[in-house]
Amino acid sequence: MIIKFYGTRGSIPICNPEYQEFGGNTTCVQIKIKQTNNIAILDAGTGIRDLGNDFLASGHKQNEIFIGFTHFHWDHIQGFPFFAPAFVKDQKINILAMGWGRRLSSLEDIFRVQMQKEYFPVQLNSMGANFEFMLLKETTKVFEPAAEGTRPVNVTVNKHKHPGGAYGYRIERAGKVVVFCTDIEHGEQIDQKVVDFARGADLLIHEAQYTSEELVEKRGWGHSSYEQAIQVAEMAQVKLLAITHHDPDHDDEFLKNVETKCQARFKDCMLAREMMEIEI
Ligand SMILES: [Zn+2]
Ligand SMILES: [Zn+2]
Repeated sequence: MIIKFYGTRGSIPICNPEYQEFGGNTTCVQIKIKQTNNIAILDAGTGIRDLGNDFLASGHKQNEIFIGFTHFHWDHIQGFPFFAPAFVKDQKINILAMGWGRRLSSLEDIFRVQMQKEYFPVQLNSMGANFEFMLLKETTKVFEPAAEGTRPVNVTVNKHKHPGGAYGYRIERAGKVVVFCTDIEHGEQIDQKVVDFARGADLLIHEAQYTSEELVEKRGWGHSSYEQAIQVAEMAQVKLLAITHHDPDHDDEFLKNVETKCQARFKDCMLAREMMEIEI
């Protein structure tokens, strides 16, 4: 799998020049199966715009595109109306939210309301793609490959603490594991369920929006500190940690400084940069 970060910013996109190294687009991650070039997407922050444009420019065709959602805060859905493949007639797009069950009454409503005419000029039902809204109560599911001879993808979700709730994703294929865990507030102690969920991952993508000092002021806002992200990585014995969901007040200089400190404690870690690719 090749994991590519199209959006690494939390809360709101930012375009000031001193933010360009880590990037200003909000959360969006692409997972590409190297063997088939097929992609799946996690979250639709503003980064999904570039992702969609790159996908169309590549000329790669795939019958179904899955977009899995951790939750539906603005910074995880606001790029959706600008996702170019959604304007391709009859392109099948599966909007996936696992584990939510009855906690959400309608997945379609989230996207329909976001694009209702008071907010956006083009409505969901006139975009062109053929959407399937998969609001599943299951927390684990095996996705069989579209092409013969390739391996299935095993997806598991884990609910964690965040205002309104959010889910981490654990994606396993051919013995490789990537865990995406964003918009999480551990509280006083590291959430052991999250550690178990991330156990042994080849790549853990864990958010950290704050320093430990900032976190004291931001209790209840739903996020983690750098220290907590590293703690999870250490406890879960992951091979590589990528920290994402950077605070819009943290510029490149600040984040580079943080990264150096993080690496001094946990060598195999980095702060995610927009367009960065990691192969596992
Ligand atoms: Zn967020
Ligand atoms: Zn959130």
